[in-house]
Amino acid sequence: MAQLTNIRRAPRCGAKTRAGGCCQCPAIRDRNRCRLHGGKSTGAPRGPGNGNYKGGEFTAEAVKERQWLRSIVRTFGKVEKR
Ligand SMILES: [Zn+2]
Repeated sequence: MAQLTNIRRAPRCGAKTRAGGCCQCPAIRDRNRCRLHGGKSTGAPRGPGNGNYKGGEFTAEAVKERQWLRSIVRTFGKVEKR
């Protein structure tokens, strides 16, 4: 019976149902969706394989690079201002 109580406490899937509520199925381990709502899916493809890809300016890599550059500008900008 220990297993049944574990299931009751498992994190629930948060997918919206057509009835308007939440799915409430137990989510797949380490994910927040159940087996019916993409729990096993690795998500949409990264990069040009994704249909919403436009020019690569918003890939995780490009965004990181801009953040890094801005942090440098911020640090050195402060020093010159005094
Ligand atoms: Zn679900």
